[in-house]
Amino acid sequence: MPPSSTAPSGVVASVFHRLVSRRARVREVEPVSDAFRLVTLVGEDLEGRRWAPGDMIQIGFTGLAGRAYTPLSFDPRTGVATFLGYVHGDGIASRWLASATIGEPLFLVGPRSALDLDAARRPTLFFGDETSFGTAAAIRATPEGTRGVAFSFEVNAAEASRVALERIGVTSGVTITAREPQDRHLERVESDLTRALRAEPETRCVFTGKASSIQRLYKAARRAGASAKQITNVAYWAPGRKGFSGVQR
Ligand SMILES: Cc1cc2nc3c(=O)[nH]c(=O)nc-3n(C[C@H](O)[C@H](O)[C@H](O)COP(=O)(O)OP(=O)(O)OC[C@H]3O[C@@H](n4cnc5c(N)ncnc54)[C@H](O)[C@@H]3O)c2cc1C
Repeated sequence: MPPSSTAPSGVVASVFHRLVSRRARVREVEPVSDAFRLVTLVGEDLEGRRWAPGDMIQIGFTGLAGRAYTPLSFDPRTGVATFLGYVHGDGIASRWLASATIGEPLFLVGPRSALDLDAARRPTLFFGDETSFGTAAAIRATPEGTRGVAFSFEVNAAEASRVALERIGVTSGVTITAREPQDRHLERVESDLTRALRAEPETRCVFTGKASSIQRLYKAARRAGASAKQITNVAYWAPGRKGFSGVQR
């Protein structure tokens, strides 16, 4: 059955979305602690599509707003994509995640390139936050898997984050650091990063998540001797900015 034109929660089928987007529907939505939803989408339009670990999809909402999420798995044979969404509270996608229902139709763009995880040689240091958990899990689908990858996450709630990471199978080599006022916690993250780079100067750095944090870590990595080529930065969000689409440098 084709999706209806408007889903109750603000996920849309505007004329524009109908023309450029792929149709899908929610097959499963699993609350993982209060703050996360593990969402599985399915759609004939997704069958046969190319996907590489680190690619994003952009879900369409009213007003032509698109919001980016990173499938942690994608099966082009069945057109099934799964992502972990962070319910941060204030935003069209965050509100939708909190109330998404099975069978709900939606329109999306992608999968499309955002971050090339296949290209990251080992050892790799992956930094992110709640919005990066799915990306971390997608590393399992790279040729080298999670071998030689250390994960570092800054988070609001350590225990809820641990539960979410366990649910999606990101359990080894993980350091979780709770956020502190004035980003004081980043000093510890920076020292760990500097130590890792001094011990293994060829370490690849993949920084995702909050724009200001990854900018700070980029500078710390460069100070510790990493070349610009060794570092991949993709901002997923910034306070006060709506709907980041993935900026790489
Ligand atoms: C390439 C890419 C891949 C991404 N993959 C994922 C993913 O797999 N899972 C996931 O959960 N997110 C992911 N994100 C982040 C997600 O797209 C953003 O958090 C997005 O802003 C959420 O949309 P929204 O409508 O809820 O909020 P918006 O309408 O975009 O923003 C509303 C307000 O909320 C703030 N905000 C946005 N995100 C956060 C946050 N995390 N914490 C606190 N405040 C926030 C904004 O700064 C703004 O002030 C990805 C982003 C990109 C660019």
